[in-house]
Amino acid sequence: MADETPSGIPTHRPLPSVGMPLLRDDVRSTRQKQLLVVVALLAIAGIAAAVVALVPGPPPEGEGGEVPAAAEGPAVPLAVGFSPPHDAGPLAIDAGPPAPPPEPLAIESTGVPGGTRTTHAFGRAVGFRPALTNAGLSGADADALTTALTGVMDFRRCRPEHQIVVERDADGSLVRFEYRASITQIYEAVRDGSRWLGRQVDVPVQRTRLARGGTVATSLGAALDGAGLGRAMVGTFVETFDGRIDFNTETRAGDAFRILLDEERIDGQFLGYGTVWAIEYRSQRRGVLRAFWFETRAAAGGRPAEGDFHDETGRAVHGGWLRTPLRYDHISSPFNPRRMHPVLRRVMPHNGIDYAAGTGTPVWAAADGVITFIGARGANGNLVALRHEGGYETFYAHLSRFAPGLSRGDTVTQRQVIGYVGSTGRSTGPHLHFGLKRHGGFVDPGRELNGPGRMLPAAQMGRFRAQLASLRRELDAIEIPEVAVREAPEAHPVAATEDVMD
Ligand SMILES: [Zn+2]
Repeated sequence: MADETPSGIPTHRPLPSVGMPLLRDDVRSTRQKQLLVVVALLAIAGIAAAVVALVPGPPPEGEGGEVPAAAEGPAVPLAVGFSPPHDAGPLAIDAGPPAPPPEPLAIESTGVPGGTRTTHAFGRAVGFRPALTNAGLSGADADALTTALTGVMDFRRCRPEHQIVVERDADGSLVRFEYRASITQIYEAVRDGSRWLGRQVDVPVQRTRLARGGTVATSLGAALDGAGLGRAMVGTFVETFDGRIDFNTETRAGDAFRILLDEERIDGQFLGYGTVWAIEYRSQRRGVLRAFWFETRAAAGGRPAEGDFHDETGRAVHGGWLRTPLRYDHISSPFNPRRMHPVLRRVMPHNGIDYAAGTGTPVWAAADGVITFIGARGANGNLVALRHEGGYETFYAHLSRFAPGLSRGDTVTQRQVIGYVGSTGRSTGPHLHFGLKRHGGFVDPGRELNGPGRMLPAAQMGRFRAQLASLRRELDAIEIPEVAVREAPEAHPVAATEDVMD
């Protein structure tokens, strides 16, 4: 252990052999591809709908030949704009006024004669209501929708790629509104007599339990890919067995894994992976590592279920903390109560760990907590301080900026982004100074946050044991396919310890 840093984490970057550097790019490019496909499909749908809407020619049978929608707002979703309403001639060319609001992503028919459904990106709007008026809604409609959805959705979480769907009837009146934050997170507002009713749309997700196993030949990422799970699953192994094995340096050809997890689909279309129920890594260096998911609190009243990975004795595999509150390059200065200060040339305690990382790297809350300070504070530069359960406080210094919308007294959840790495205050380069206090005194986060997690309370042990028995049975039943390992196994060191948990 002497060659390790105080946090127990080697300070070098992941080796390519683990397949980890590919992870984030893979995910990003896959998401980009999915987004492109969606945008392309929407665009095609939009063009088709516009053509369908315009080809028949005769103007809508409205009162006085009124043009729907066109007069309503600035977005003018239908390309009816510049032809006189009685002109049933060629399609209008949407020349558009200078600097119009962003084009809608799609225009479709609602199925009701004359009804339209127009999809807009949230885009660069500065808030929810401005996004609605950008999408062509009147101020009155925007106000009514904002009121209806207050408390239903969190307006601070709006993102440029989210979608706004506006449904109008043949008269151009708003009949339904939808906000799509993701495929599964959709909010709607519908007319309820004279007022609008906002609610979250229940999207039915089909879950199927998958059981997979594999042997590592070149990298864990490649092995997971070979098992049909995709390299992104590497992160689950790294996080679950954090502190028990270092996948950067201790992965060996011939190691094996087994995993039981849910696959989620909507209308048969693959959405992603859900709960990982049981996970095993058979390491030649570290023995057999296993963890089992256990729901410690069921979902209730709109609050999602809570759970954690536990070992076979019912102890949580993590101490409830993120061991590191960011993805960093290296530790530039460890916790040291007797550090010789590099500039001041005298012994000055270093009350935290300095993690070097690029400016703008997201910094996460190490655990659930309450913000006790957020702002500039002397040598700390931009600082966030959090108070946690059990007499703990954490400090995040030298930030370039804070996550938007946070203020003192706010509750944050573990892994929520609270700010971004910078070099503000007394700092010679971009890094995060991460400090930890227990009952008012500074302690080494590397040591303190590494402890084992809590045992499940006795009241939950019965349910845990029953679930464990069935998960173990399922996990043990997974056959690990043999894979030709290119290098001879004896070329790799094998841990002296036998499988400790079986
Ligand atoms: Zn520091």
